[in-house]
Amino acid sequence: MKIIPWAKPSLDKTDKKSLIKSFESNWISGGYYVDKLEKDFSKFLKSKKVVTVNNGTSAIHVIYLALKLKRGDEIIFPSYGYMAASNLAIQLGFKPVFIDVDQETFCIDPSKIKKKISKKTKLIVAINTYGNLCDFEEINKISRETGILVLEDAAESIGSTYKKKQSGTFGDFGTFSFQATKTITTGEGGIVITNSSKKIFDEIKLYRNHGVDKKRYFHLLPGSNFRLTNLQAAIGCSQLKRINSIKKRRNEIFYLYKEILKKNNDIKFQKFKKGISPMIWTMAINLNGEKRLNRDELIKSMLKRKIETRNGFYSPNYLDIYKKFKSKELKVGDKISKNIICLPIYNSLSDKDVRFIAKNFLDLLD
Ligand SMILES: *Cc1c(COP(=O)(O)O)cnc(C)c1O
Repeated sequence: MKIIPWAKPSLDKTDKKSLIKSFESNWISGGYYVDKLEKDFSKFLKSKKVVTVNNGTSAIHVIYLALKLKRGDEIIFPSYGYMAASNLAIQLGFKPVFIDVDQETFCIDPSKIKKKISKKTKLIVAINTYGNLCDFEEINKISRETGILVLEDAAESIGSTYKKKQSGTFGDFGTFSFQATKTITTGEGGIVITNSSKKIFDEIKLYRNHGVDKKRYFHLLPGSNFRLTNLQAAIGCSQLKRINSIKKRRNEIFYLYKEILKKNNDIKFQKFKKGISPMIWTMAINLNGEKRLNRDELIKSMLKRKIETRNGFYSPNYLDIYKKFKSKELKVGDKISKNIICLPIYNSLSDKDVRFIAKNFLDLLD
C-alpha cells in the first residue's frame, strides 16, 4: 500500500491544457497569462492593485523594499506561524518583535500588540494560519490609532472570507503563495495585493523587474527579479477558475474529520470566529489534553500505518536563529508548537481515506 501523503496538488486536464497553450505560445518568461492572472485575481478579490511574483516570500520581500525599511526597524510577528516573513526580516537586519497567539484560533492575539509598539515599529505582519483569518477589525483599529501598516500574510488562506470579503484584502498589503502544498498552486508563485498608494503599487512592480519600466535598461530603482513565468501563470489562471470547488471539497474533508474525531475529548480543533468562511489549508489538531502520547512519536506511529502527518510550526523560542529575540511572553505559541499535529487534506482524498486516517489516529490515541 502506498503512503497517504500529507498534501497533494489538485491538478487536472484544464490546468494541463492551459500550461501547454502557454508553452506553445513561445512566451515562457512573461506573457499573456501573467497579465491575465493579475486581472483574474483583481476581479476575484475585488481589489485593483494586484501584482504576480515568483513565490510567497518574494511577495513579502517586495513589500519590505517598497516600504524602504531600514536596519533596526521593528516588525511585529505572531509567535506561531510559518516563519518566511520573520526570517527575511532578520536577513535584512530588521528586528522581529514576537507577540503571542490565541490558543483557539492559532492567530496573533491583537490585545497583546499595543504594548509592544515602539517608535521603531514599522509594520505588523498578521499570518492567517491554516486558512483561518486574524482578527483584522482589532488589528486595523490599532493600525488606525498608531499609523503602523499591516501586512496580511495570506499564503495559507487564499479563498477564505470574512463577511464575504476575500482574504488578502484586509491589511495595507496582502500576500499569497502558490507553492505546491498550498490550496491553489503554480508549483512556485505568489501574489502581492496592496490597498496602499499608486506610488507604492508602481514601486512594487519596479522592484519585481530590476527597477525597469518602459525604457529598456533604464533602472529607476535598485530592483530585483521576482517575476512569475507565463508557464506558471497559465496553471494559476486555470486553478483560480476552480477555486470554489477546491474550497468546497477541502472543507467537506475538514468537517468529516471533525465529526469522527470529536469523540476524543483530548482533541482540540482550530476555531474560526463567526463570519469567517475558511478555505482549510490543513487539518490541524491541538493535542493539548493528551498527556500519554508524545506528538512526535504519534507522527512516527502514523507513518508506520502509511499515513503522513506533520508537526506544527516552532515558536521562535525554540529556534536558535531567533535567540536574540526570545521572549517569556510567548506561552501559547510555545505550548501549541509542541502539541499540534496536521492530518492530510487534499482534493482527491476520498471519504473512505478520511475515515481510514481518522480511525488510525483515534486508535493510536486510545
Ligand atoms: C508558504 C508560506 C510562505 C512562503 O511562501 P513560498 O511561496 O514558499 O515562498 C509565507 N508565509 C506563509 C504563512 C506560508 O505558509
